[in-house]
Amino acid sequence: MRAVVDDDSCRGHGVCAAVCPEVFVITDGGYAEAVDIPISPDLEASVREAVDGCPEHAIHITEENHVN
Ligand code: SF4
Repeated sequence: MRAVVDDDSCRGHGVCAAVCPEVFVITDGGYAEAVDIPISPDLEASVREAVDGCPEHAIHITEENHVN
């Protein structure tokens, strides 16, 4: 699983970073970024919680686990 934050939709509320700081960080610009690495299975539940909690529906997840 990987997570991607849609820059155009993110409004920087920071819910994602509060729910799952291992994956989401708020950058100096005030918006969220997801780490660009496959998410370990033990973090998947909190990533899904961040997806559900994002007020802008700005987080998308894919099941892809490797870099092409
Ligand atoms: S919760 Fe959503 S809108 Fe808020 S910082 Fe995270 S991705 Fe952006």
